[in-house]
Amino acid sequence: MKLSAAAEDLLERLWIGAFEEGKSSVALNELKISMDHPALLELTGQGLIRVDDSTVRLLPGGHREGQLVVRKHRLSERLMMDIFDLKGTHADDKACEFEHLLNEGVDSKICDLLNHPDRCPHGKAIPPGRCCLKARREGRPGVICLPKLKPGQSGEIAYLATKDPQKMQKLMSMGVLPGSRIRLSQNFPSYIFRLGSSDFAVDEQLAREIFVRLDDKA
Ligand SMILES: [Zn+2]
Ligand SMILES: [Zn+2]
Repeated sequence: MKLSAAAEDLLERLWIGAFEEGKSSVALNELKISMDHPALLELTGQGLIRVDDSTVRLLPGGHREGQLVVRKHRLSERLMMDIFDLKGTHADDKACEFEHLLNEGVDSKICDLLNHPDRCPHGKAIPPGRCCLKARREGRPGVICLPKLKPGQSGEIAYLATKDPQKMQKLMSMGVLPGSRIRLSQNFPSYIFRLGSSDFAVDEQLAREIFVRLDDKA
């Protein structure tokens, strides 16, 4: 379902009210909107909410859509923080813009990249998507940092988490780049991995900055 950003924001507030604050309905004056607010009319028109006596109530379709909007919002927050390293209000603003661009399908790709997180940076639960349930059922670890691989396991480098330009340069000079194939051969006393036809050794600290999408059945 394609909703306007304003309608998604309103739906999100209603969903949080209903499912996390236990309010079965919310008064229009609490939402600070009037009966003829476009977002309200849009949600009513889509059959997602009902307005009675100046209070708004979520209908079952609104519950489903609202949960998806909350999921996209909290995944966007994780993305801003974990991948783009944005924090504070700047990150919050960006997450708010970004969530409306995520349609279904893209949210599961991002969820995969983030390894199906269950909490946003503020500690709120992220409603699980089908991808999360599948990953849990199959015991698939998703994207993990290099020290979590067992010797002999291989995969593709998903991203580098380091913010330190020197470390980044060191990794890049070894050819440690997103998309490269990597295989861990040894994890003690240092981490030795194979990249192409060369072997490299890094300490644990640096190994923790390398995130790998494991091969299936690796
Ligand atoms: Zn949050
Ligand atoms: Zn997921």
